[in-house]
Amino acid sequence: CGGNGAVTAEETKLVMGTVARLTVRADEITSQAALSDGLAVLAQTERDADGAAIAELEAAAGTGTWTEVSPALYETLTLAQEISRRSNGAFDVTAGALTELWERARTEKLPPSAEKVAAARSHVGYEALELRAMEEGGQTRCEARLMKAGMKIDRGALIKGLALDGIHSTWQNADIKNALADLGTSSILGMGVNEAGEPWQIGIRNPRGERAGDALAVLPLSNEVLSASGDDERFFLYEGRRYHHLIDPRTGYPAETGLASVVVTLPLRGDDLPAWRGHMGLLSDMLSTAIFVLGAEEGRKLLADFPPALVILIGTDGRVIGE
Ligand code: ADP
Ligand code: MG
Ligand code: MG
Repeated sequence: CGGNGAVTAEETKLVMGTVARLTVRADEITSQAALSDGLAVLAQTERDADGAAIAELEAAAGTGTWTEVSPALYETLTLAQEISRRSNGAFDVTAGALTELWERARTEKLPPSAEKVAAARSHVGYEALELRAMEEGGQTRCEARLMKAGMKIDRGALIKGLALDGIHSTWQNADIKNALADLGTSSILGMGVNEAGEPWQIGIRNPRGERAGDALAVLPLSNEVLSASGDDERFFLYEGRRYHHLIDPRTGYPAETGLASVVVTLPLRGDDLPAWRGHMGLLSDMLSTAIFVLGAEEGRKLLADFPPALVILIGTDGRVIGE
C-alpha cells in the first residue's frame, strides 16, 4: 500500500500487567504516529498511577495535611469518589489497604486472617478522602487529603479506563476515525469501523470457558468503550473456594454475588452524561467493578443513573443473566 491509502497498523505492548493491542486504520504515516502516541499515553498513565503525588498523599494520611495534586488527578479522584458514593462503597477508590492484603494472599495462595481483614477494612472509606480546588493568582491549585491513617488509593479498578480516555482524546486530536485499543480485553476503545467497514467485533470471554479465550458471544463496538470485570482473571483456590481480586469493602472479602463477569459498554460521545464527557473509559471501568461487587439487582439500580450504559451480566454458572 502507499500514497493516501488506508493501512491497518498494529502494535502490542506489555503494560499495566496486561497485553495492550492498538490498531489504527489511516494512511501509513498517520497511523504510525497514532500508534506511538497511543503507546506514550499508556506509559504515562502507568507512571502517573504510582506517581509521587499519590505516595505523598498516602504518607500524609491521618495527619490532616493537604497534598497538592495535578488537576488531572484531582478530576479522576473526584469522579471516582462520586462512583464510590453512588455505589454505597461497593466501589471504593480508597480500597488500597484491602486490595493489597488480598494481592499478597494471591501470591501466597492463602486467605488472610479475619483480624488482618478487619484491620485493612478499617483503613478504607471514600468519605474520608477530601478534595479541594482553589483559585490562586489566576491558576487553580488542587489538593487532597486522606483523613484516616493507613488509607491508600487504589487506581486498579479505573486505570485502564483512564488510559483509554487519554488515547481517545489523543487520537481524536490527530483526526483518527477508525481505531481500536484493547487493554487485555478488560477495557476496549472502539472508534469508527474495522477493515470491513463494520463495527469492531469484540469476543466476550466465557468466564467458565474450558480454555482461555473461549468466547461466549461477539459484541459489535463502534464509537464505544467497553470494560469488563471478572472473577476469572486473578484468583486462587483454597479449600474449594475461589478467592478473586474484586473485593467488597463492606465485608472485606472477595464479592460473592453470583456474578462471574460484568461487561459495561458506553457510547464515547456520552451526550446524556455531560459531567462525564471525555471520561467514558473511566466511567465504564468503575461501573463494571462496582456492578460486580453490588450484584445484579443493586447493580442495575446504579446503572439507572447512567442511561446510555449497557451491561452484560454473566453468572457463576457461566450463563448470561437476562433482564
Ligand atoms: P481489571 O483489572 O481487569 O481492569 P477491574 O477494573 O475490575 O479489572 O479492576 C480490578 C482491580 O480493582 C483490583 O485488582 C483491585 O486493585 C481494585 N479493586 C478491587 N475491588 C475494588 C473495589 N471494591 N473498589 C475499588 N477498587 C477495587
Ligand atoms: Mg474496573
Ligand atoms: Mg478495569
